[in-house]
Amino acid sequence: MRHLPFDVVIVGGGPAAAAEAIRSSRRVRRVAVVSDGYGGCMRMLANQRMQSYIPELDIADGTRRLAAYVQGLERTSPTGREFATYVFHLIRDVPIAHVTGNVIGIERCGRDFAVELQGPSGFAVLKAAEVILATGLTPRDPGAWAPPGKTVTCFQAYHEIGLEQTARYAGRDVAIIGSGNSAFQLAASVARMARSVVVLAISYVGLYPQETNDRFGLRAPTQQTLEMIAKTAARDCLGPLNARSAECIAPIWLHVYEQLTWHPRERCLTAFVRLGDNTARVPAISCALARSAGRLRKCEGADDRYCIKLAGENLTVISAIGVKARVPETAWNKLVEPDSRFVRHEHGRTEIDGLYVAGGCAGYPSVNMMQSPARTSECPMPQLEANAGGDAAFRTMGLPGAH
Ligand SMILES: Cc1cc2nc3c(=O)[nH]c(=O)nc-3n(C[C@H](O)[C@H](O)[C@H](O)COP(=O)(O)OP(=O)(O)OC[C@H]3O[C@@H](n4cnc5c(N)ncnc54)[C@H](O)[C@@H]3O)c2cc1C
Repeated sequence: MRHLPFDVVIVGGGPAAAAEAIRSSRRVRRVAVVSDGYGGCMRMLANQRMQSYIPELDIADGTRRLAAYVQGLERTSPTGREFATYVFHLIRDVPIAHVTGNVIGIERCGRDFAVELQGPSGFAVLKAAEVILATGLTPRDPGAWAPPGKTVTCFQAYHEIGLEQTARYAGRDVAIIGSGNSAFQLAASVARMARSVVVLAISYVGLYPQETNDRFGLRAPTQQTLEMIAKTAARDCLGPLNARSAECIAPIWLHVYEQLTWHPRERCLTAFVRLGDNTARVPAISCALARSAGRLRKCEGADDRYCIKLAGENLTVISAIGVKARVPETAWNKLVEPDSRFVRHEHGRTEIDGLYVAGGCAGYPSVNMMQSPARTSECPMPQLEANAGGDAAFRTMGLPGAH
């Protein structure tokens, strides 16, 4: 076990880590960044476009501009791959130690921290006075409704669709559980290959900014999906996604559900739907069409309660029910806030002295809303011209994955 002393170790390799690497390298001398995948989680989108516009995604004080990575003059948003490449290059440019590895634990080591990692050539420990967690997001665990062996998370679905691995969706009935942008955007993607697509939402959050002030409201690419849902059964009424030229576009349905149940013996997923929860225009149209098509059937003895049964043989379920912080094992069991499932913090400071948090795992919903942690004592060290000490130290010590 070897210990190298760093002033700051940043755990993560996405946009938050890039911003913190730039900032830390100007403040202190010995900085390391550790990641199991530089570029961040947006790489999973591959050639699918992000929602944010290019200027919203530029990292402040970076050496590069995102616009240089975006192909096509008329494009306003990058693809996931373009953004990840930009972030990768930004981090690589910062003259600090770059370590490839998965951080498996963080604990106190005297007044410092011991950051334990598993790299390509084994286990190592980095010692640091400060640690910044910039470890991003992971999907929330699906509930008991999830059919075993038939359910994937939205991250898996984005990843597979990005790689054109379509076996799980092509010719199948796809149920997408979720009410956010991921659910609707995945619906549009899988509709190009699936037999049918149903979005089962716990609520209809409305379009931002027309129908809601909620910043999580549904955005422009989602609007196209909603248009397609509204026109699902009216095939002579063409929208951008169900134009006749686009082959194999499956109908997309949208229902706000009250309850979901997986019946293992019948191998069937049942969604219970109340019409009273489906009064917004698009779900109301979709429910009316589904009733006339015999897809939504009235439950016995209930005025307003209907159900839709999705048979297991041909079913794929995508769980798009939200995200939570991805954090390595630590000795502090109150680090993550149980309700929000993000790291508990005040202006980026956790309850543990010297442990900071940035980006998605701190609950910031988008790149342009991220804020850097404010230090307990903002006492900058003298700025240094070059900051390559960490890299050299890694090369001489032969630590795993240092490059
Ligand atoms: C489907 C989807 C679409 C989105 N679209 C947008 C959008 O258009 N615009 C926008 O602003 N935001 C978008 N977001 C939110 C976006 O994910 C975040 O804004 C951004 O990626 C967060 O950056 P981050 O650096 O905090 O985390 P990430 O980008 O997740 O990067 C964290 C990185 O840290 C590394 N890591 C994690 N744990 C460890 C560990 N233990 N050891 C070593 N390395 C580790 C991982 O390799 C990971 O790549 C989207 C999110 C999703 C899920």
